[in-house]
Amino acid sequence: MTKETHTCSVCGKDSETTICRTCEAKIRGEILEEKDKVEKAGHTDTGRR
Ligand SMILES: [Zn+2]
Repeated sequence: MTKETHTCSVCGKDSETTICRTCEAKIRGEILEEKDKVEKAGHTDTGRR
């Protein structure tokens, strides 16, 4: 009980950082995807609604 264990705030698994590498990569990928979608939507969505 002397060791402080960190857990990933996303998946809850043991991690050295707040967010484990797996989730970090996932989040980064999602952000990139979202950004890509937004950019694409901005180009294609021309007054549609
Ligand atoms: Zn995780």
